[in-house]
Amino acid sequence: MTGAPSVRFDATGIEVENGLLWLDARTRRRLGLVTHAHLDHVARHETVLSTPETAELMRRRRGAGLKYIERRYGERTLVGDVAVTLLPAGHILGSAMALLERHGGRLLYTGDVRPEGGLTCPPAELPRADVLIMEATFGRPEHRFPPAEEVREEMARFAREALGLGATPVFLAYALGKAQEVMTALGRAGIPVAAHPSVWAMCDVYRRFGLVFPGSRRLAGRGRPDAAVVVPPQSRREIRAPGELRVAAVTGWGDRALCPGVERVFRLSDHADYDALLRLARAVAPKRIHVVHGYAQEFAADLCALGFDAHAVEGHRGPDEDERPGQF
Ligand SMILES: [Zn+2]
Repeated sequence: MTGAPSVRFDATGIEVENGLLWLDARTRRRLGLVTHAHLDHVARHETVLSTPETAELMRRRRGAGLKYIERRYGERTLVGDVAVTLLPAGHILGSAMALLERHGGRLLYTGDVRPEGGLTCPPAELPRADVLIMEATFGRPEHRFPPAEEVREEMARFAREALGLGATPVFLAYALGKAQEVMTALGRAGIPVAAHPSVWAMCDVYRRFGLVFPGSRRLAGRGRPDAAVVVPPQSRREIRAPGELRVAAVTGWGDRALCPGVERVFRLSDHADYDALLRLARAVAPKRIHVVHGYAQEFAADLCALGFDAHAVEGHRGPDEDERPGQF
């Protein structure tokens, strides 16, 4: 038999070749490929296959004491008769897409993907494949993002203005990925940053892989109004800086109604927007597309209208750790 490896979807993950390998499974499996360290993609597998960055992030989160097979981007690993290659996904540090090849057939699983990459991770590499399994977090046409560099400049302006008025700018961003993007953008603009301890713990791993955060420090006690504060949304109540707080959310959802108590929303995402998802599908040029997450139905319908053979996989995954509407 020839062709791309067979896959089966269920609520816990994606099974490849009758259990030979699982992709982003949420329950313990014999061999689990983990595309990145957001908590909705990890589980305590017997053996984890991931990039070294993801392995290190997992060890700091829920993966201490596990066995890891660590593979750098572009390295091929044979699992049974399936050749597995991890490729940059542009989502967060260490995030990978999985290219699975068997008897000349190719399957690409994107995991969470941002083709253009960010300040803390390289752009995605998009190979051609026969079968594509892709996410669609922002798979509706109203989700088109402004250029990231413009948003970064606006964030720096917001922070500078607040600090100039003696206020403390507070950026709400989830602890792994988004927070480090915000810290890097502000640091490059010469703005000092105080990071919430949960963010700082993740920055430690970034540093191990050569990413530095100049002008940043761990937030300790009451923040002083000489630094921008970066904090996950669920920890915002802990921020009690003297003086006025100017609170902004950093999220691809871009809707202030979803972010109560927030003065500004900066539309910066670690995911592809609608146009980038379409470009991704065109670049991979697959014969068959499975859409697994987000606006799966709507996006699959749009892909079909463009001539792709696409369908939505229902009931496959719960909400993301990152970019949840209303929780960003
Ligand atoms: Zn993610």
